[in-house]
Amino acid sequence: MFETVIGLEVHVQLNTKTKLFCSCPTSFNHKQNTNTCPTCLALPGALPVLNKEVMHKSIMLGTAIDATINKTSYFDRKSYFYPDSPSAYQITQLYTPVVEHGKLQIDFEDKTQKNIRINRAHIEADAGKNIHDGEISKVDLNRAGTPLLEIVSEPDMRSAEEAILYLKKLHAIIRYLDIGDANMQEGSFRVDVNVSIRPYGDEKLYTRVEVKNINSFKFIQKAIEIEVRRQSEAWEDGIYEDEICQETRLYDQEKDETRSMRGKEEAADYRYFPEPDLLKAVVTDEMLAIYSQIPELLDAKRERFIKEYGMNEYNAGVITATVEMAHFFEMMMSEEGVSAKTATSLLTVELQGRLKGELSLANSPVDAKKLGFLAKRIDDKTISGKAAKDVLDKLMEEDLEVDGVIDALGLKQVTDTGAIEAMCQEIIDANPEKVEQYKGGKEKLLGFFVGQVMKASKGTANPQAVNEILISKLS
Ligand code: ADP
Ligand code: MG
Ligand code: ZN
Repeated sequence: MFETVIGLEVHVQLNTKTKLFCSCPTSFNHKQNTNTCPTCLALPGALPVLNKEVMHKSIMLGTAIDATINKTSYFDRKSYFYPDSPSAYQITQLYTPVVEHGKLQIDFEDKTQKNIRINRAHIEADAGKNIHDGEISKVDLNRAGTPLLEIVSEPDMRSAEEAILYLKKLHAIIRYLDIGDANMQEGSFRVDVNVSIRPYGDEKLYTRVEVKNINSFKFIQKAIEIEVRRQSEAWEDGIYEDEICQETRLYDQEKDETRSMRGKEEAADYRYFPEPDLLKAVVTDEMLAIYSQIPELLDAKRERFIKEYGMNEYNAGVITATVEMAHFFEMMMSEEGVSAKTATSLLTVELQGRLKGELSLANSPVDAKKLGFLAKRIDDKTISGKAAKDVLDKLMEEDLEVDGVIDALGLKQVTDTGAIEAMCQEIIDANPEKVEQYKGGKEKLLGFFVGQVMKASKGTANPQAVNEILISKLS
C-alpha cells in the first residue's frame, strides 16, 4: 500500500480594477483586444509600473494565512514563446515573492484538524487567450497583464479529501477577503495538482506528476484518484521507473483519464532572470499597517457564532462556509428581536430550499432584510413558523412586504386566549366520545384535539396556548 502525496498550486485572478503593470481595465466581456495598451501589448519601449492594489490584495492574503510578508520583493522574467503572450516572457516572482511561509488549517468531519504549510504566494501577470476557430486561431489580449496571485502549498496533503478541504478553505478565504471572484468555471481560480506516491513509512519524495486544467472540485478529486491508481499500478507491475516521470498531464473529463501534455524532454528552459524594467517592490511600515487589516474570516466567525448565539457546530459551519451566506445571516440578525435559531432555519432550510436553478443568495428574490423581517414576525409571535413558509412562498413569487402578505393570507397568529378557549370548547363539544376515551386514560388523543383546533383556526392559533388550554379543560 502506498501513501499519497499532494502539493497544490492555485492561480487566483485578483479583482483589481486595472491590470498589473498598466492602467487598462481588467473587466470581462469587452470586445476583443480593446482593453490593451502599449505596455500589455509589449510594444518596444513601453514600461511596466506596479499596481499598488495588487500589493494590497497580496498582503491581505498573506495575513490571512499567517505568512511572512517580505518588505522587499522582486520580479523576474520567465521566458517562453506562446502566441497569447506578446512579450514572449511572463513577469513573475521566482526568487523573492511578496508572501512566504504561511499555513492553512483544514478541518475534518471528525473535528480533528491539520495544518497545511504554504510555501509562497507570488504575483505574476496572466497571458491573453487563444481562440481556436476552425482552421484559424485568433488571439485576444484583453486578459494579458491581468494580475494573478499564485499560491503554492508544500506537499503536505495525503489524500484527495485533504486536497479538496484545503482548496475549499482557500477558496472561501479569497471570497471573504474579496480579493478575487474565485470562479473555477471562469478560470479565476485555477488549480494545478501535483501528485506522487510512496511506500508508507518512506520519508523521501518520489516523482511528482502535475495535472492541469481541472475546473471543478469534483474533477480534482477524480484526477487525483486516477493518478494515484496509475502510479500504484505501475509500481506493483514493476514498471514505475519506466512509466512515471516528472511531466505535465491533462485531465480529460469525458474519458475520465489523465494523459501526457508535455514531458520532461519537452520542458521549456525558462531562462529566469531578474526583471530589468521594474524596481524592487517595497512595502513600508505604513503600507503594511493598512494592507494587513483583514475582515473576520470563517474560522473566527464560526467560533463567534457558537459562543455568541449558542449555535451548534454544524449550523455555525454551514452558515460561515461561504461569505455570501455569512453576510446574509448577519444582515438578518441586524433586524431587532431576531433569534439566531429562527434566522438559521429560515435561511438554511426554507430559503435555501427554494433557491433552485438560476437562483442563488446573490440574486434571491427575497433579500436578507426581508427574510430578517419575516424572522422577526415569527419571533414576536405574529405568525407561526409554519405560516412563515406560506409567506415565504408568496414572497418568492412577488416583491411584496412581509406584513402585507401576512394580512392578505390571514395568517396572523391568534394569541388572544379568550378566542382560543372558545375554539377549544367547540371542538370538545363536538366530540363527546373522544372526550370520554381521553378521560378514560387514552391520553394520546390530546394530539387529535390539538390538530382539530389548529385546523379550525387555519393554523393561526398559538399551538402552545392550545395545548395548555385543552389539557386544563379536559382534566
Ligand atoms: P513548478 O513551478 O515547476 O510546478 P514548484 O516547486 O513551484 O514547481 O511547485 C511544485 C508543487 O509541487 C508544490 O506545490 C509542491 O508542494 C509540489 N510537490 C513537490 N514535490 C512533490 C512530490 N514529490 N509529490 C507531490 N507534490 C510535490
Ligand atoms: Mg507547477
Ligand atoms: Zn495595458
